[in-house]
Amino acid sequence: MNMFDKEKFTEIVSNFVTMSGKILPDDVTQKLEELKNAETGELAKTVYKCYFDNQELARKLSRPSCQDTGVINFYVNAGEHFPALGQINDCLKEAVRRSTAEAPLRHNTVAIFDEKNEGTNVGERAPYIHWEIVPDSDKIEIKPYMSGGGCSLPGRAITLMPSAGYEAIVQYVFDTIVDWGINACPPLLVGIGIAGSVENAAVLSKKALLRPIDERHPNPKGAQMEKDLEKGLNELGLGPQGISGRSTVMGVHIETAARHPSTISVAINVGCWSHRWGDIIIDKDMNYEIISHKGAKI
Ligand code: SF4
Repeated sequence: MNMFDKEKFTEIVSNFVTMSGKILPDDVTQKLEELKNAETGELAKTVYKCYFDNQELARKLSRPSCQDTGVINFYVNAGEHFPALGQINDCLKEAVRRSTAEAPLRHNTVAIFDEKNEGTNVGERAPYIHWEIVPDSDKIEIKPYMSGGGCSLPGRAITLMPSAGYEAIVQYVFDTIVDWGINACPPLLVGIGIAGSVENAAVLSKKALLRPIDERHPNPKGAQMEKDLEKGLNELGLGPQGISGRSTVMGVHIETAARHPSTISVAINVGCWSHRWGDIIIDKDMNYEIISHKGAKI
């Protein structure tokens, strides 16, 4: 039986979080490049140039991609045979504590009621960790996400009467993006969760942000809804930073769970242009593969 190397595991995750706060993942960089090239207006082109200059400087100077390094969320897909699953929560917390000091990450975690910031980004249920167990696997996949203040502001959820139909979901998405999207530094990645209750929809709406841009919903009707929403939202023409342009969004992703016959719940979460998410798979011998940032060194 493998001994779990707790120190090595923590170091890998900490180094990965640190790197993913500074370097955007491949899918985001590629989509920004595509949207930049499609712009014709001088103002929009200038904003995109700033984005890319900023990324180059972040890499060269080893600085965060954006000063708001967010509150850290982890989505964990743990193989049932990965060793020491009971120690992973502690390791992830320690990894965030180390990254906060070493990266550094901005001190963003404020205790509810006491309103204290301990300066570690670790606190009550922080980092927030979502678990899924994967059968017949001895690996663990970890997806960190830096949830910035601006891109968390548009977060919304509602339960609708089913008779309102899918049209009501579309209306809710448009109302939310029109009212709040500009706070989240467009172009946006819009994550939508559809389920039978708001808590399930909310978790899914954030999970929707953690797959490569343009990877479609497996149901063709879901995939079509993603494409239609994307087309419609782009016609709003918010442009980079909301100063107008050809695009509003980098993409629209939907995640779903079966609903109650009497309810249809929808939740929205938004990623900003500096959409810092990562995907790393670690095996029981502490070999790892970085999925989101090909060729990156940690
Ligand atoms: S919305 Fe994103 S890019 Fe804008 S300040 Fe927040 S984290 Fe930074």
